[in-house]
Amino acid sequence: MKPLGPIPAGFSAVDGVLAVGGRPVTQWVDQAPDTPLFLYSADLVRSRIAALRAAMPDGLDIHYAVKANPFAPLLKLMSGLVDGFDIASGGELRAMLGAGVSGPQISFAGPGKRDTELEAAIVHGVTLNLESEGEAARALAIGNRLGLAPRLAIRVNPDFDLKGSGMKMGGGAKPFGIDAERVPALVRTILGSGAEWRGFHIFAGSQALDATAIAETQGQALDLAARLAQESGAPLPHCNLGGGLGIPYFASDTPVDIAEVGVRLSERFAALPDILAETRFCMELGRYLVGESGVYITRILDRKVSHGETFLVTDGGLHHQLAASGNFGTVVRRNYPVAIATRFDAPVEEEASIVGCLCTPLDKLAEKAGFPRAEVGDLVAVFCAGAYGASASPAAFLGQGPAFEMLVGEGIVTSERRRPKSGLFRS
Ligand SMILES: *Cc1c(COP(=O)(O)O)cnc(C)c1O
Repeated sequence: MKPLGPIPAGFSAVDGVLAVGGRPVTQWVDQAPDTPLFLYSADLVRSRIAALRAAMPDGLDIHYAVKANPFAPLLKLMSGLVDGFDIASGGELRAMLGAGVSGPQISFAGPGKRDTELEAAIVHGVTLNLESEGEAARALAIGNRLGLAPRLAIRVNPDFDLKGSGMKMGGGAKPFGIDAERVPALVRTILGSGAEWRGFHIFAGSQALDATAIAETQGQALDLAARLAQESGAPLPHCNLGGGLGIPYFASDTPVDIAEVGVRLSERFAALPDILAETRFCMELGRYLVGESGVYITRILDRKVSHGETFLVTDGGLHHQLAASGNFGTVVRRNYPVAIATRFDAPVEEEASIVGCLCTPLDKLAEKAGFPRAEVGDLVAVFCAGAYGASASPAAFLGQGPAFEMLVGEGIVTSERRRPKSGLFRS
């Protein structure tokens, strides 16, 4: 039997059924047009952010990296909980403006920004995290043409990476950011251009669970920011220290010790060099804020045995949960936390593999793991589905279409109307 990942804290059974936002998932499923369904718990997002703020030094801003989950009702919830938003496309800018967030609360990173995206960002007062000298020149030219001073920061390609991170985004040759040694010259160009100088964005990696490695990377980012500010000859208004806090997906993973990260960062903040004395710092986090708040619910359509192995075939799959299938940046496929939602407190009775409805062997939600015996009609829950689920999976594959999404919790039930999968067959 292969192990399953750890079910995140905050989930329990009500009458034997997994509850999200205080109600059994069967009730949410009844309100949705169909399964599969993403459920995001507003309460878990709120408590996660409150715990993070309590652990981090005063004055550290928390930004939400929108690409983790751009579901509109979630963005509205986040707008009351975080200090800023980091986006990576014009589409995400549209989503933020639609959620009522104003440009000055937003920064825009990402290689390959179109002129139309730069223009929209400049018009709305969004900070551009510049990814190259060429992009800086285009932004300045657009600002000149519009008669507006663009708000410009530089994304630095640091000369270090986040150890143990699932995705390395710094160190060596990278499409992201500007190599550290070329940064001071560009800062001076920006300072002399009449643009508004906003500071540095230093992002070294993602999905790290080791507090010591995270703290070391933050320390290196602070050292680098100080050195580059000194060499540029100007104090730093703002510095985005990156993020990188991960969540446990697999059996051997343990949660990040945020208390340790907070203590180590407080120590560094207490001893900042003069050039950083007036700097405003933030961390930008995606999955850490929302990943564990989300559950993907899919229904078992078939139960079959092949060569002695039991397969539970669901109406969901990798088209909504690419990461859980093991096809989103993992080398070895391991099981996410997965459970039979309608038998949530039942003991393990059999070994089964839970697969999706797509005609490809890649479409596995859980492989050879222990579950209570489940039947056709039972609901399966895939946890850690609040980030990089709906928006990072190929929903159009095999003509399946997107899953329904709901943000649920105390006094809150919001969903976006989407054409349900079976809409075609209803009159
Ligand atoms: C993807 C990304 C993030 C968010 O990463 P998480 O692992 O979800 O926290 C933050 N910043 C940048 C620049 C990114 O590209």
